[in-house]
Amino acid sequence: MSAAMESARSASAGPELDVVVVGAGFAGLYMLHRLRGLGFSAKVIESADDVGGTWYWNRYPGARCDIESIDYSYSFDPELQREWQWSERYATQPEILRYLGHVADKHDLRRDIAFSTRVEAARWDDDASLWRIRTSRGDEIRARFYVMATGCLSLPKTPDVPGYGRFAGESYYTGRWPHQGVDFSGKRVAVIGTGSSAVQSIPIIARQAAELTVFQRTPNFSRPAFNGPVTDAKKAAFDTDPAAYRAAARLSGAGVPLEPGLVRAFQVSEAERLAKYEEAYASGELLAFGAAFADILSNPEANATVCDFLRGKIRSIVRDPETAEALSPKDHFYGTKRPCIDTSYFETFNLPHVRLVDLRKDPIASITEQGIDTATRSFAFDVIVFATGFDAMTGAIVSVDIAGRNGLALADKWADGPKTYLGLTTTGFPNFFAITGPGSPSVLSNMAVSIEQHVEWVGRCLADMREQRLDVIEPTPTAETAWVQHVNDGAEISLFPRANSWYMGANVPGKPRVFLPYIGGVDRYRKTCDEVIRRDYLGFAFDGPAGARCNDGVVCRLQPDVAMLLDALAELGVPPMESLSVEDARRFVIASAALRPPGPEVGEIVDGELPGAAGGLAYRLYRPASPGPHGIVAYFHGGGWVVGSADSDDPLCRDLCVRSGAIVVSVDYRHAPEARFPAAVDDGFAAVRWIAANAAMLGGVPGKLAVCGWSAGANVAAVVCQLARDAGGPAIAGQVLLTPATDCDFTRASYAENGDGYVLTTALVRWFRDHYADPADRRNPKASPLRAHSLAGLPPALIVTCEFDPLRDEGAAYAAALAAAGVDARHLPCRGQIHTSIPMVDVILSGAPARQEMAAALRRFLAAP
Ligand SMILES: Cc1cc2nc3c(=O)[nH]c(=O)nc-3n(C[C@H](O)[C@H](O)[C@H](O)COP(=O)(O)OP(=O)(O)OC[C@H]3O[C@@H](n4cnc5c(N)ncnc54)[C@H](O)[C@@H]3O)c2cc1C
Repeated sequence: MSAAMESARSASAGPELDVVVVGAGFAGLYMLHRLRGLGFSAKVIESADDVGGTWYWNRYPGARCDIESIDYSYSFDPELQREWQWSERYATQPEILRYLGHVADKHDLRRDIAFSTRVEAARWDDDASLWRIRTSRGDEIRARFYVMATGCLSLPKTPDVPGYGRFAGESYYTGRWPHQGVDFSGKRVAVIGTGSSAVQSIPIIARQAAELTVFQRTPNFSRPAFNGPVTDAKKAAFDTDPAAYRAAARLSGAGVPLEPGLVRAFQVSEAERLAKYEEAYASGELLAFGAAFADILSNPEANATVCDFLRGKIRSIVRDPETAEALSPKDHFYGTKRPCIDTSYFETFNLPHVRLVDLRKDPIASITEQGIDTATRSFAFDVIVFATGFDAMTGAIVSVDIAGRNGLALADKWADGPKTYLGLTTTGFPNFFAITGPGSPSVLSNMAVSIEQHVEWVGRCLADMREQRLDVIEPTPTAETAWVQHVNDGAEISLFPRANSWYMGANVPGKPRVFLPYIGGVDRYRKTCDEVIRRDYLGFAFDGPAGARCNDGVVCRLQPDVAMLLDALAELGVPPMESLSVEDARRFVIASAALRPPGPEVGEIVDGELPGAAGGLAYRLYRPASPGPHGIVAYFHGGGWVVGSADSDDPLCRDLCVRSGAIVVSVDYRHAPEARFPAAVDDGFAAVRWIAANAAMLGGVPGKLAVCGWSAGANVAAVVCQLARDAGGPAIAGQVLLTPATDCDFTRASYAENGDGYVLTTALVRWFRDHYADPADRRNPKASPLRAHSLAGLPPALIVTCEFDPLRDEGAAYAAALAAAGVDARHLPCRGQIHTSIPMVDVILSGAPARQEMAAALRRFLAAP
């Protein structure tokens, strides 16, 4: 056959294989095994000449895992679990490589792996619905599905050091270490870098070398691994019931069965905190500090206590104070760059032939033929070891020339950061899967667990497609955009984006700064992936002999911390408030208030009494720490006119006081059913009049008064503005209404859409309204301010609504009606929030931007002339 005929024939031919998998590490090996088991034809392409991936390439001295080997191993083969015994807690690279080789032998995997072959390009052929995969051998393979199992940390970064390539001596790269090893005896050695690989190799290189000079740009947090034989406790925990042990790992946050910290760092005394840190230090477990308290990775002050503790440990080990100082990380929060565990790392700097060069103070001017010149010194070396890290998570994927529909290059699509659905798939690239891709838990987890989960999801998906006679799958743009947003939402409420880390792409010049992994935890992530399948592959479009179909939609619509809160509440099995008596509902609100974080410190808190419409009312005044006088905000708490108090909204009032710089006076208006409509609003108006008249006595600026409220309290605030307008005073500079109750019409869509499952239910709103007002009164503007004869002339307003709130639409309607009446009214809709989430200071961190906006609005209102 002529070449032209051959090419025409192959151009029109169908796939030779069901699946091509790239990479023969942990992921590729299991993917192949799984696909075979499901009856698919598959081939693995691997550029190395054997299996192992990470553990094939990283043969530097001291290379070992930092998740305990019992955890960092496959769970899919019970027999393998029984027969393989790890010699150490943290196995060395040779042992892990032997393990992966054993798995390959046991399942006869090598016969379907093309070694020493690199995948160079992959093109989606839309006509034939298959991938054309070109390799370094010059051949092209046609496969229906294309799976990148190319690893998150597999493409070493080219060192960005001036003069790189000039050195005439021996150069080595930790990520591409020679198989025969390196003998450093008697040599003058430089190590550039102090990340995980350097931390592991430096102590061992120091044992051999005549001189060792470590060039450090960023010090890392590290602590002893206390490696040794697998502990009896760990072995027993695993051996007793391996299946249960693995299940616990899968349902954990990071893929290791570890008790998550539920208590916040400042909820315990300093002595208890330090005891907890000593325990975490002694455990030698990588994840122990992150799990010590619930807020280590989200609260800067909590994290700082870990940083201080670990810096203290470094100072206690390293004898030279200047070196200790240089080795102590100060530019990032603990955990926001991958921390290390080590064996004698800091001790190594006490050896007379080891020195540290702090590149922050004395940067590298150039690598020379003889060694390294810094700004102030010249060093001669026999060997330079580059421990300069990887182009993480996306590097190995985009280094292959991948083109999807209409020739779209993946590298172009991801130029501003990777966009995926579930970290597994990407729009425009049908039948393409990335194992532990960006946007999945991957490097924030025990990778063995995350890899198995992805492999099993892909296997299940392919099998389902075969059964349903579908042969093309692609995520929808809606699903992908929402997932990218969800991944970013998670990152935003953590400290991670504040560090210049490889998690953020910051180690590679020119790489976009985007948080690459998914922070929501392997448990939550797994549930999400399972939910996608359960909801008939939500967010995916399919095509094939059975026809085209698309189940467009978004799987995670709640903010991550809101979703966690709802899960926690569901687990507690709290009865619906509307099923309680009023007394029990009030007791419940008081009891829950006692359990939450207190909110920020304010300058002063004063409790007092003011005259209400029918007698004295308690109030609580929050004064900023700054010198007064200040503007004043009259605040009305939430609670459906039935429950709540200054106590229940205390953290929110503190937060508003600190952020707005205003005095906040939280007024305990009378409650229904004892004092029904219009007691609450009459009290509100009386209180505002009294506050306006007594502003100077309260430490405020006379005439600078705004109102604010949440839920029913926002209803009171809105009505008070109308009453003040109609009465000709007092002057109110502005109103901030958080998820206000403004009407009595239950036919609005948000009552149906969000009627159940988001804490404030439609049934509970009815319960509150029934207690508060007779049906005849509900249309009265003093109960439903949206029904006022006119909204003109009201103070400027900020109306905050939450997406998953039955009251959402009436809040939005009030904002629109105010604007239509010529009021300077702004509507702030909060994506993924529920009725009760914004006030949850230090619990729902994703609510902080809304609280900031509320405070900014109050500042603006109070600053207006
Ligand atoms: C030193 C080190 C220690 C680590 N320790 C831990 C640990 O303790 N716990 C943990 O959870 N994770 C650890 N990791 C992360 C580790 O990468 C993963 O745990 C896991 O090994 C990844 O497996 P993988 O199969 O996804 O990727 P890899 O093991 O990286 O395998 C990918 C394979 O794809 C091949 N490949 C890539 N591109 C191509 C191409 N275009 N053509 C052909 N072949 C290609 C590569 O050659 C490689 O063999 C560590 C990483 C490093 C570097």
